[in-house]
Amino acid sequence: MNRREPNKPIRFASAARRWGRWLLVFSITGLSPWAAAQETLHAAASPKPAIVIIIDDIGDNLDAGLRAVRLPGPVTTAFLPHTRYARRLARVAHRHGKDVMLHLPMQADDGATPGPGAITLAMSEEEFHRTLQADLASIPHVAGINNHMGSLLTRQPQSMLWLMQAINRRGALFFVDSRTTAATVAQQVAAENGVPNLRRDVFLDNETTAAAIAIQFERLLNLARHNGSAVAIGHPHGATLDFLEQRLPQLEAEGIRIVSVQTLLQQRQLPATHQAAQPSATELASANGNDPARETHATP
Ligand SMILES: [Zn+2]
Repeated sequence: MNRREPNKPIRFASAARRWGRWLLVFSITGLSPWAAAQETLHAAASPKPAIVIIIDDIGDNLDAGLRAVRLPGPVTTAFLPHTRYARRLARVAHRHGKDVMLHLPMQADDGATPGPGAITLAMSEEEFHRTLQADLASIPHVAGINNHMGSLLTRQPQSMLWLMQAINRRGALFFVDSRTTAATVAQQVAAENGVPNLRRDVFLDNETTAAAIAIQFERLLNLARHNGSAVAIGHPHGATLDFLEQRLPQLEAEGIRIVSVQTLLQQRQLPATHQAAQPSATELASANGNDPARETHATP
């Protein structure tokens, strides 16, 4: 439908609503209706920078998992299937208003064991789907999937196609490419198959010292300020949780929004003038520094 040619009664009603809002803003703020309108337009055209923070590898450790699912704000939480506390922690996360993801174990290059429920290159299509269904069934409230490890499997177009087809059959799931290898095709195959998708820009805690995490977090904020939004992945390490518990409550005063994956996906679907720019390949390469090929491992 052409939104510029609505019929007249709708146009009049929407104009009246708009003026009503401006007059309300005027009466509250003391701004003239014109200034209030300009403020409204400016706010819509340049939303505050948004960050997504995904904490994955949750499920083996109850205390660390509880801290992760209780982090301030709409932090996104990703759970390893068939781990001891995943089901219970996913329920707590959902109650705390967090998006819940399946952190899907995938075969890595280095022969490291991705853990229970892993999908591998050797699987037939039927084994692949049976494994994925059991993984999804093991975590309640799943809204999306990201890869755990997977430096071998996310390079395989056929495996990624099976995954995205399964996501489409189930419906209403998004995919986040953790980018454990620079050669991943996972996000590309997701896009080609119409699966809502994001990619990780920054790993917060490949190095688990407070100083290193703070540097990575500043990289995340700078990317978000420059591009409108940025996506980080962290893990339930003590140092990461200490840092985020202290740092996240400060962000609102700095004009940064923490948003869920689903909110950022919706925001990126807005018309171009309202949409955050996508980072260019060069910016991503510089943002990734040396870490795109790092494999993240579960830590009990
Ligand atoms: Zn992981």
